[in-house]
Amino acid sequence: MAILRGNLHAHTTFSDGLRSPSALIEEYQALGYDFLAITDHENWIPTEYWHSLDHLSARLLLFQGVELNYDGFEQHVGKVIGDRETLYVLNHPARYKLTVPQTVSRVHAIRRGGLPLDAVEVTDTGLYRPLYDSDEIPLIRIATDDAHRPPHFGRAWVEVEARRDRDAIIRAIRGGDFRIGFATAKP
Ligand SMILES: [Zn+2]
Repeated sequence: MAILRGNLHAHTTFSDGLRSPSALIEEYQALGYDFLAITDHENWIPTEYWHSLDHLSARLLLFQGVELNYDGFEQHVGKVIGDRETLYVLNHPARYKLTVPQTVSRVHAIRRGGLPLDAVEVTDTGLYRPLYDSDEIPLIRIATDDAHRPPHFGRAWVEVEARRDRDAIIRAIRGGDFRIGFATAKP
């Protein structure tokens, strides 16, 4: 089975990213990535967002997605959409300066609110935040670079052992058949 490298959290000019969707795809293709999720902020995206993503062409495997604002407290939740599968991610707890117990209670609150969280980011814009790389948090631990602009592109990723198929990648992540990687050594 191939090892596929990808980023599951990225922004474009549809929200607060610097690159257009096609320019962002070019960035990650130049870095040799196999897949990329475009996840613009739900409160910024225009109605044509989804339609525009449908019409992008890419050599890498593109996931559509969105970054949700959880309704209850300030917390972004990543939604990465496969063909049948959807991956939900507790985004950058580091940004909210959460303790581990606070992170765990957010996981439970968000799940009770109806979002079936799968994963937590142990990164903030691609920088490793080891506090959240903890067995106490009942989620799969992933790394993303939450790309908005240079130097975010290519800082942190997941390498997944899966077929080149959106659902296969999501299922492999859920199953733990992946590892996280960083452009610079973990501090
Ligand atoms: Zn983001």
